[in-house]
Amino acid sequence: MYALVIVEYPVKTLDKTFTYKVPTTMYSLIKVGMKVEVPFGNSLIHGFVLNIFQKVPEVSYELREINRIVDDELILSPELLEIADYLKEETLCTKISAIQTMLPPGLKAGKKKEKNYTHYETYIKLNPSCRNILITSKGQQEIIDRLKVEKVVHQKEINNSSLKTLLRKNIVIAVKVQTYRLNNQIEIKKEKVLTKEQEEAFTKIKNGFNTSQTFLLFGITGSGKTEIYIKLIKEVIKQNKTALMMVPEISLTTQIASRFYEAFGNDVAILHSSLSKGEKYDEYLKILRKEVSVVVGTRSSVFAPLENLGIIIIDEEDSSSYKQDSYPKYNAKNIAEFRSKYHNIPLVLASATPSLESKARADKEVYKLITLNKRIGSSTLPEIHIVDMEKEMKKRNMILSELLQKKIKEKLTRHEQIILLLNRRGYSTFITCSNCGFVYKCPNCDISLTYHKTSNNLQCHYCGYLIKKSETCPKCEQTSLNYYGLGTEKLEQVLKELYPDSRVIRMDQDVTGKKGMHEKIINSFKNEEYDILVGTQMVSKGLDFPKVSLVGVINADTSLNIPDFRSNENTFSLLSQVAGRAGRSDIKGEVIIQTFNPDNFIIKCVEEASYEKFYLYEMAFRRKLKYPPYYYLIGIKVVGKTYDTALAEAAKVKKYIESHVSEETITLGPTTANILKYNDEYRFQIIIKYRFDDSLKETLKTIEENYATNKSCYIDIDINPTRI
Ligand code: ADP
Ligand code: ZN
Repeated sequence: MYALVIVEYPVKTLDKTFTYKVPTTMYSLIKVGMKVEVPFGNSLIHGFVLNIFQKVPEVSYELREINRIVDDELILSPELLEIADYLKEETLCTKISAIQTMLPPGLKAGKKKEKNYTHYETYIKLNPSCRNILITSKGQQEIIDRLKVEKVVHQKEINNSSLKTLLRKNIVIAVKVQTYRLNNQIEIKKEKVLTKEQEEAFTKIKNGFNTSQTFLLFGITGSGKTEIYIKLIKEVIKQNKTALMMVPEISLTTQIASRFYEAFGNDVAILHSSLSKGEKYDEYLKILRKEVSVVVGTRSSVFAPLENLGIIIIDEEDSSSYKQDSYPKYNAKNIAEFRSKYHNIPLVLASATPSLESKARADKEVYKLITLNKRIGSSTLPEIHIVDMEKEMKKRNMILSELLQKKIKEKLTRHEQIILLLNRRGYSTFITCSNCGFVYKCPNCDISLTYHKTSNNLQCHYCGYLIKKSETCPKCEQTSLNYYGLGTEKLEQVLKELYPDSRVIRMDQDVTGKKGMHEKIINSFKNEEYDILVGTQMVSKGLDFPKVSLVGVINADTSLNIPDFRSNENTFSLLSQVAGRAGRSDIKGEVIIQTFNPDNFIIKCVEEASYEKFYLYEMAFRRKLKYPPYYYLIGIKVVGKTYDTALAEAAKVKKYIESHVSEETITLGPTTANILKYNDEYRFQIIIKYRFDDSLKETLKTIEENYATNKSCYIDIDINPTRI
């Protein structure tokens, strides 16, 4: 018997498989999809079995034997293996990198001496083979008595010197038991009675249970979508099936996970990037061992090895975080669609601001549209005020407008809560010398450094470059440094000065870097330990704080000014979503949006809470400029060590593409990429817009292969990029 094994191979664009002999002792054990240890050169490495066969392979060298099977569990189910092939085809990555992406730490095919993440805890019990129990102290007697009743006790509970003596005398023994690091203790709560609108949505989706229909659940903020998810999943579990619930951000996992624990108890595993490696490994094992029916997680949870899936739900489906920006550049929504077809189960895409792609598909009846137009109970959508910041500047209100200041005061006296959105972290985003004009810039990238006051560092938000800030200008040595560009860190400080009696908390990447911080911030704000929550787009989506009655957007123009075809869509979504955090219970909500473009059409649509108006406007724009959803996009970056080599290679690539694509396909560029210099490399971009082009993938594969061994440049292909 022989096995074809795929292993990690140093050349990024190549897949390598090798044939090994299967030792007779493994005949009955080995399966396709298992992880095995094989001899490779002079060492032992891990790989995955892709095929098992009997026919003697025709090779001139002696085949080596598989050393051992690594994990008891089957790591790659037939479905995951198919997903790996799909990923390879869709994103042009290698099969091994697709496999590695799907797996958690500890289960990837690594070098042999990989860290073992299995977690053990020690329990104490009486030694059954010990007959004559000679007790010399009261402490020892207490332990024995307790063990007689409870049989096993966690070592932590009785860790004292008496225990040590008992262990030494062999009267009691310690046993190691594999346990999971995450164990929720939340009590199960009774489910809510769905409103008529919720019930109707639920029934429509339930009627599609044995189809691979995609539903677009288009429900305004606060319409109670989560309750519908819970009811659907309960129904799925009744049928002995499992469910995958996806959310875009870690902060949302925290909130949804606790509502899911309340609904499903320990039947839930969670997967997101701020879990420790050990926790990820544990949660994954719960799924592999079929100990849970529900998985809640962010992007990569789409690969959760749930068998017998019954439904996939993607919350805030328009979020760009479902697309992975790094290799392999997959979109979790596509994988979800693949799995929905594979299992013949519904996929639910939900949002208050659906992506244009999804809404267009719903209009064409490819997706089934379900709408929720009412908020729960007596709650209504908040009132939105737009403030012209140009006028405010004249009144010297640089950060907070008169209206926003007045409203903050008002809400604070009423003990209601406030969320302020500023989509830029740090203290100031731009430092310059008023004497010589010096600007702090990243030496590796095309960007000014952001000042972080807490750490007194200047930081590049692209590559992470870091230096200490000096008191004087590094060039002319005068004390004439000026700080511009407001960030969340400074806003927090300004608020604390303006409202000294208020309690302000900040949530952005800088403070949530530490494990468990998301949870801590969200819970303490929910428990009303703070009055004002300041944050980046992290605070905009999904969060449900009943006491929030005011949402302020400090600068609505930040996202509007990003040069990207999606910036209107992103702005509309961000502003509508953050507005939706206000007035979610019986307190009336108000929203204040500060902008230098009060007449901007998108901002007007937000003010009127009119998705439809925004949608028609934006679709017309996309159609005219040939952007998605009318055309598909491919972004190709040519990256090189110098400006000239990168540009020259990019021109070659473009020429090659142009001579190989269909007539209708449009090839643009090369232009300098959005960020020309990044991490000390120069980047040029070619954009392909197409509708139907059968040979395009082949053309791209050829280009990728040609550049696999090129020393001066490399190619980065992004199929259906979320931004360009
Ligand atoms: P969405 O995700 O649509 O913005 P949520 O699911 O967060 O809205 O629901 C908004 C609020 O309404 C939550 O506090 C939730 O507990 C509450 N809620 C939802 N459905 C019901 C219901 N049927 N009865 C009572 N309260 C509900
Ligand atoms: Zn940099």
